[in-house]
Amino acid sequence: MKHPEEHTTKSTSLLELDVLAIYADADAEVRQAGPVCLSSGKCCRFKEYDHTLFISSIEAAVLLKHAPAYEKPTDSGFCPFQKENLCTAREPRPLGCRIYFCDQGYQGKMLELSEKFTRKLKDLADEKQLPWHYAPLHHFLDHPENAAPL
Ligand code: SF4
Repeated sequence: MKHPEEHTTKSTSLLELDVLAIYADADAEVRQAGPVCLSSGKCCRFKEYDHTLFISSIEAAVLLKHAPAYEKPTDSGFCPFQKENLCTAREPRPLGCRIYFCDQGYQGKMLELSEKFTRKLKDLADEKQLPWHYAPLHHFLDHPENAAPL
């Protein structure tokens, strides 16, 4: 695997590099599983899809550092980073966005990957002695001060 450090700047923190390395491993396993995406964009329109995206404070820190600006307060019905069905925060998007696909044939593998990589993020937070703060995406969008320090 190519280490994410090769894609980042000097100001990238060690915590951020560790989070990006976990994402890279998750992306590789998702690619291997090969879920089908029809690019409907529904999974990012939470109210329409009856879905809540939970993220941890360490994922929030990476997302908020690199995602485009958005208006506050946010509407929990959709993700402010979705524009014309596309994700404008693709590089720093959190784990759930990387693992979640609506492909019915992938649901079992999705649960397995979600548990595995959420555990890795939690272990990283423990290792860094950061509290495990896990909440809906919009909590961190409206309260960025609750993201972990990078
Ligand atoms: S960060 Fe990107 S992939 Fe995740 S919910 Fe928002 S638009 Fe969708």
